[in-house]
Amino acid sequence: MQQIGAHVSAAGGVENTPKRAADIGCNCLQLFSGSPRVWRKTDLANHDVDKMFAEQAKYGVSSIFTHAIYLVNLASDKPELIEKSLATLKYDLAFDALVKGSGVIVHLGSHQGRGWETVREQVATEIKQLLNESSANSTLLIENSAGQNGKLNSDLAEIRWLLDEVDSPKLGWCFDTCHAHAAGYALGEEAKQKDGQDSLIAEPTEVKNVRAETALEAINRLELWSSLKVIHVNDSRDEFGSGRDRHANLGEGIIPQADLKYFLNYSQTKEIPLLLEVPGADKKGPDAKNVSALKQLLED
Ligand SMILES: [Zn+2]
Ligand SMILES: [Zn+2]
Repeated sequence: MQQIGAHVSAAGGVENTPKRAADIGCNCLQLFSGSPRVWRKTDLANHDVDKMFAEQAKYGVSSIFTHAIYLVNLASDKPELIEKSLATLKYDLAFDALVKGSGVIVHLGSHQGRGWETVREQVATEIKQLLNESSANSTLLIENSAGQNGKLNSDLAEIRWLLDEVDSPKLGWCFDTCHAHAAGYALGEEAKQKDGQDSLIAEPTEVKNVRAETALEAINRLELWSSLKVIHVNDSRDEFGSGRDRHANLGEGIIPQADLKYFLNYSQTKEIPLLLEVPGADKKGPDAKNVSALKQLLED
């Protein structure tokens, strides 16, 4: 059975997350190991991991994914920011091992106008150092970005490059449907072949990043399946190729439902855990309505 999950709040303690996930129909989840807007973390020993495991068993929640904080930038030119970024990732990797998790999902940051080629070796060196110093039972998962403001890894070839350069079983990646759409990767194969002006690819108004291939074509060409450990399923508020990262509830955004359905039912995709990071009806995060919308997109 495919794992279907969502980002859930860890307010009050990480041991509260399995019930929150189960309450909206999920059997896996994503959480933050602390506040996503601050560097400070509680001592690892303060997490009630035994209670967490008991709650997971009680509610049938298997995989736990940890999302790193948004302040991380491994491509910074400020040594202090890099140090802080490495420290928070080191904590999250230790947390991942502690909760027997399935990986730490991270946005690597922004080159801030300096370009990917300028920063990529620095980033790879930092990741190697980080993984050398972290538990054997932890995994770092690089997430593709929407691309705006010099954000790294909107181009899936950059992820391929990092996987090759770091060359570690502890490194994988996470595909986000909203970010791919924003970065100009169509989710459906049909969109590309459609003639007429209703094809999203044929209408590049204000579009900066339209790719010559779909997301599935790129993943196949770059041989990125075995390292793809999780998929973020989000609709997008912004146009195809916009570069903007604003998530929408499933069916309420710009991504054609047929394309999302096509992507999610591709043979390899069906083996991979899915996580929602949508705003929800009340903007408090993924809700039961979005989880059931996701389940409806999946064919048996
Ligand atoms: Zn995401
Ligand atoms: Zn996003």
